[in-house]
Amino acid sequence: MDTLKQYDYIIAGAGCAGLSLLVQIIRSGKLSEKKILLVDKAEKKINDRTWCFWETAPGPFESIVHHRWEKTWFHGEGFSKLLPLSPYQYKLIRGIDFYEYCFSLIRQQSNIDIRFGNVEQLENYTDGAFLVLNGEKLYAKYIFNSILFEKPVLKKNKYWLLQHFKGWTIETEKPVFKPSEATLMDFRTDQRLGTTFVYIMPFSPTSALVEYTLFTNSLPESPDYDAGIKKYMQEHLDAGGYKISGEESGIIPMTNHKFPASNGKIINIGTAGGQTKASSGYTFRFIQKHSAAIVDRLLNNSYPVTASGPGRFHFYDSTLLHILHHNKLAGHLIFTQLFQKNKPRQVLRFLDNESSLKDELKIISSLPTIPFLKAAVKQL
Ligand SMILES: Cc1cc2nc3c(=O)[nH]c(=O)nc-3n(C[C@H](O)[C@H](O)[C@H](O)COP(=O)(O)OP(=O)(O)OC[C@H]3O[C@@H](n4cnc5c(N)ncnc54)[C@H](O)[C@@H]3O)c2cc1C
Repeated sequence: MDTLKQYDYIIAGAGCAGLSLLVQIIRSGKLSEKKILLVDKAEKKINDRTWCFWETAPGPFESIVHHRWEKTWFHGEGFSKLLPLSPYQYKLIRGIDFYEYCFSLIRQQSNIDIRFGNVEQLENYTDGAFLVLNGEKLYAKYIFNSILFEKPVLKKNKYWLLQHFKGWTIETEKPVFKPSEATLMDFRTDQRLGTTFVYIMPFSPTSALVEYTLFTNSLPESPDYDAGIKKYMQEHLDAGGYKISGEESGIIPMTNHKFPASNGKIINIGTAGGQTKASSGYTFRFIQKHSAAIVDRLLNNSYPVTASGPGRFHFYDSTLLHILHHNKLAGHLIFTQLFQKNKPRQVLRFLDNESSLKDELKIISSLPTIPFLKAAVKQL
């Protein structure tokens, strides 16, 4: 083995999870003697996504929060309300700001190398793990991997719903937005293809990110997101003319498949490490908590795999996925009841896997009992 290519840590994937972990390693200030390699196939120069999430306190990327809201609208079946989120704030970070911020910090560190190329393989060997980057083997004591090479094979009772969406950043002629009021979910949309909603993140009276989202079992042949956004704008926003200054689209797997936390010295992070919340697709905050826990263990010289948290949240997520997958209840009705009958802060804490059992029982009892009970029994 070429000793020159031996690292302490290799971070495979410079996306949200890889960069978050590396920034938290740097900020710990105590791992600067570790030789680290960051690899990705892309140079991360485009604004390919925006991350929205909620927090009660300043987070690790506070300085690049692009906009924040203390209130959001919810529009569901027979229920419309501006929800106060306190003690939470809903925050938005633009992908490009995140990549630039992280890479600028990383490039200042003499102990970190960056390589761009295709990771073809990850394997363990006696003293660590190696990856193959464009045909070259690179070794490390630990590899932190966020690359999901393929969709896993699903076992019985495991679901793989797709949350797919397209968003436009628009500049309108008329001042139609309130920059202090976001729209978390607006279900006044066609529900025929599956759970479908619009969310709106306004930045000024005349500019916002408007996103059209569906949860479906498979990708519809030609989901017409553009037509969905246009129709929504005609019906609910008296915007006059508008121009599109940016676009994003994506697919997030909503699954109760248990991604392995590790395989020997290969430690999985991000979506590939099970950090995407199965019932919502939210991932950003889970990645930050996971990164902090990994850094704690590295500082203590412990194996950097952390406990996955209370299993009951996996059970709740599985129950909801069962209902959505088998069409036992319409998603818009479930989310409407969730927000109509519970305080927003309780729902957000629940979706963060941070609620108490008492709160969870209250939330569960606010949902239609029979279908949820039947689905829960199937998941037990
Ligand atoms: C458009 C979009 C919007 C989203 N919005 C939100 C949101 O608002 N809130 C939220 O909580 N979550 C959101 N998510 C979900 C989740 O937060 C993101 O997917 C997040 O980027 C996941 O982080 P990750 O590091 O696991 O994966 P990624 O960020 O995708 O990083 C994986 C990295 O691996 C690299 N890679 C892949 N294959 C290879 C290979 N063979 N060789 C080398 N490199 C490779 C990729 O280039 C990429 O940089 C969104 C997802 C998308 C797609």
